[in-house]
Amino acid sequence: MGALLLDGKKLSLDIEKNLKIRVSKLKEGGIFPHLAVILVGEDPASEVYVKNKEKACDRTGIKSTKILLPSSTTENEILELIDLMNNDDMIHGILVQSPTPRTINEILITEKISPSKDVDGFHPQNLGKLVQGELGGLMPCTPAGIMKLLKQSRIDLAGKKVTVIGRSRIVGMPLAILLAQRGIDATVTIAHSKSKDLAEICRESDVLIVAIGRPEAVKLDWIKPGSVIVDVGISRINDSLTGKSRLVGDVSSKAMEVASYMTPVPGGVGPMTIAMLLTNTVDAAAKTKFN
Ligand code: NAP
Repeated sequence: MGALLLDGKKLSLDIEKNLKIRVSKLKEGGIFPHLAVILVGEDPASEVYVKNKEKACDRTGIKSTKILLPSSTTENEILELIDLMNNDDMIHGILVQSPTPRTINEILITEKISPSKDVDGFHPQNLGKLVQGELGGLMPCTPAGIMKLLKQSRIDLAGKKVTVIGRSRIVGMPLAILLAQRGIDATVTIAHSKSKDLAEICRESDVLIVAIGRPEAVKLDWIKPGSVIVDVGISRINDSLTGKSRLVGDVSSKAMEVASYMTPVPGGVGPMTIAMLLTNTVDAAAKTKFN
């Protein structure tokens, strides 16, 4: 029997429906949720991601402003722009699309964004709250989206062996913290490019979450039958059979044959990430009411 789909697309549309209602209520109270997105350089994939974020803002009534900067923009110029936005009461969320050109230190940029407008959830203050188990703040979007998708699908993680492959600042690390928190209670293994016997680690995992950016690196025979698979990776490959390009995840799509639940690529984690970005923006706007 094939795996049931962890349908991020469907859940994200439900989340958007609720957000639309919250946005209209905020507007009635004189608050117009507003996301500012800074895109530096001309990376085609980033342009698509930013366009998808703008479209999602449109669907929910959130105002979005895109600031396109040439790749020659200096770090200081970006920091100054963020400073202006931090002090602009009409902007509730600030996002600098990653990756930035190599000359820009992304950590510095993240630290400059006011924690209350950090809708990506990457500011050290917001990440630090996760470690302390304070989950009421702005959470990193992809990990928060995955947690929501698992919860909505009633996947019990308590005491389960959960492996996260990938230890990035934006996906793997914060996700591992969320999975291990009290109340979720997963037993978490974090694997990475230096891990030994990765196939064996996967075969022992009740839940496998893969965020490495390597097309179909996780093979069918690595999957424990009946396990839950969350595929975060998204890569474009050229299909040698059809000659056309298509999107694939980090896990062989054949894993569907043996897993109990699995996210599709596309339509799994991606839409949830955007839904969480919108949620963070509306939450940030709502908090200004009390300031
Ligand atoms: P990243 O910063 O490049 O980190 C990749 C991680 O994977 C690193 O920890 C690296 O290990 C590990 N890794 C690389 N190759 C590996 C291998 N062969 N075996 C085991 N571990 C390996 O990537 P990221 O930003 O977390 O993104 C990962 C993927 O998720 C990308 O495809 C990205 O496009 C996708 N993504 C999707 C969404 C979404 O919304 N769907 C959001 C964010 C990211 P080391 O630490 O040892 O180098």
